[in-house]
Amino acid sequence: MMELKGRKALVTGGGRGIGRAICLRLAKGGADVALFELDAGSAEETTKKIEEMGVKSLSLKVDVSLQEEVKRGMEEINQSWEGVDILVNNAGITRDNLIMRMTSQDWETVLGVNLRGAFYCTKAVLRGMMKKRWGRIVNVSSVVGKMGNPGQANYVSSKAGLIGLTKAVAKEVASRGITVNAVAPGFIETEMTKSLPQKARDSFLSQIPLQRSGLPEDVANLVFFLCTEEAGYITGQAINVDGGMLM
Ligand code: NAP
Repeated sequence: MMELKGRKALVTGGGRGIGRAICLRLAKGGADVALFELDAGSAEETTKKIEEMGVKSLSLKVDVSLQEEVKRGMEEINQSWEGVDILVNNAGITRDNLIMRMTSQDWETVLGVNLRGAFYCTKAVLRGMMKKRWGRIVNVSSVVGKMGNPGQANYVSSKAGLIGLTKAVAKEVASRGITVNAVAPGFIETEMTKSLPQKARDSFLSQIPLQRSGLPEDVANLVFFLCTEEAGYITGQAINVDGGMLM
């Protein structure tokens, strides 16, 4: 089904992991997909896969934590596409440590990418969406933003902050036909979780009623749905994709 045919999407951190799966799911749905990415190599690979689906793709080297880079990236998109209809704020990083050992730098870096980056990208796309009186924004939060997690005070704060951002912006722009939602993945198999020690993996898995870790595609399917016309009556929500880990 090509429900997103003619739509233009921007996915941050679309080069690998969940971001790449989201790019491919939106492209499969018929959308043209641009991505902001740090690593040109992985971005190029995603772009190639998107174009193989018969839609257009743009890859831009943008660090979402830097407002000037976000502005420049949006200008480049605007030259080719005249704005975007869909924004997925997916770029995210971790710098884990117990709070007693966490440095201000690790706090700032994580908040800078995960939360401030979403703020910059949202600002950059909203004017165009308001003019078109249609838009979809999806923020990739995390279940830990709702339930907390030791050793991740910076990451958890950024993910809880994203849920707050989602709700505030959803209320501000609802009258313009724009929905803003968050997805909250649980334990998903990507580079981010690959390095977790076996003990931590086992502990996560023991908390998942569906008895398996998630795949990037599990998250991408929900993001896709939230971007369709059919999801037009859903806004301001933070929906878990976690095999039932948090109920
Ligand atoms: P990942 O494999 O580490 O991928 C993260 C992506 O974000 C990479 O493409 C990375 O680019 C990009 N990125 C990082 N910093 C950036 C920046 N400053 N500007 C632009 N792009 C940047 O992680 P993932 O597991 O796919 O996670 C994707 C999102 O899901 C994150 O927000 C994460 O917090 C969230 N999440 C993941 C899980 C999980 O279990 N995996 C659970 C809950 C939530 P480079 O390739 O250049 O580094």
